[in-house]
Amino acid sequence: MKALVYVGDAKVRHLEVPPPQPGTDEIMVTVLQAGICGTDLCLVRDERPKADAPVTLGHEFVGLRQDTGERVIVNPLLACGGCRACREQRAHLCEQRRVIGVHLAGGFADCVAVPEGNLVPAGNTTAAQAALADPIATALHAFRLAPAAVGPVAILGAGSIGLSMLFVLKRFGVPHVTVTDLSPERLGFAERGGADLTAPAIDGVYDVVFDTVGSVATRRDAALRIRAGGTAVLVGLHSADLAVPAGPLIGGERTLRGSFGYTPDEFREAVAMLPDLDTSWVHTVPFVEAEGLFTALLEGRSPPRHIKLQMRMSA
Ligand SMILES: [Zn+2]
Ligand SMILES: [Zn+2]
Repeated sequence: MKALVYVGDAKVRHLEVPPPQPGTDEIMVTVLQAGICGTDLCLVRDERPKADAPVTLGHEFVGLRQDTGERVIVNPLLACGGCRACREQRAHLCEQRRVIGVHLAGGFADCVAVPEGNLVPAGNTTAAQAALADPIATALHAFRLAPAAVGPVAILGAGSIGLSMLFVLKRFGVPHVTVTDLSPERLGFAERGGADLTAPAIDGVYDVVFDTVGSVATRRDAALRIRAGGTAVLVGLHSADLAVPAGPLIGGERTLRGSFGYTPDEFREAVAMLPDLDTSWVHTVPFVEAEGLFTALLEGRSPPRHIKLQMRMSA
């Protein structure tokens, strides 16, 4: 079968690979549509997360169960079920966490073997919506980690996580949401998604700031733009570093907290929200264009109007 494989040395290749052999409790899924994520680009650039080449990428995908024909969305986070985090219902923090499309063969392929417990019925979703379950669940989890805000809230970055964050906040009726991004086109999508204010840079003071960019500068902005007692939720993983002055953190009792992934329940909850998601910011291309497209993204030559790129597979 065809697959888009991270082969090491900062390269991906469209290769012919043997189809997966499903283990016990695993179901073969024929992939319908799969999204390219910033995580994939970081992985190929040998940043975070680390992966052992060769591995087929793709953790945001929808497909058909080969045994029943049902459309399903794959929760790519695999947990051991037995460690302390798993026993405390925080499977996303499992000590042996593995991710389909990072540590195990993923969805940029004709088919994937997936543990049955990681399949969620796709219900009444379009393919584009279904393949966005992972960023929406990531946003839902970040929202749940933040204390309920009574004042203004800001989202730094209007990429796929930023727009997912906005979608979740608006679903829960959060007022006064500001979204910042350097790209006017991305801010246009934020306005369409219900942002109360958009700006190229953050200004003012907020109860909660969600950093979906993850650069040293946006993490610092997030920490310094919350009021005393406020919370900055760090979601973006772009940079390895954090540089925040200690004075305002300590003297203002400001909270910085990381947010990663989602629990299995949050993933299901995110799937239930998908039918209401506007996907005008998704651009879909045929799988045969995958290698060239991915290489263009790695070199920073992405089509600017489209925030999320998804690949339509053979089926
Ligand atoms: Zn992702
Ligand atoms: Zn575990």
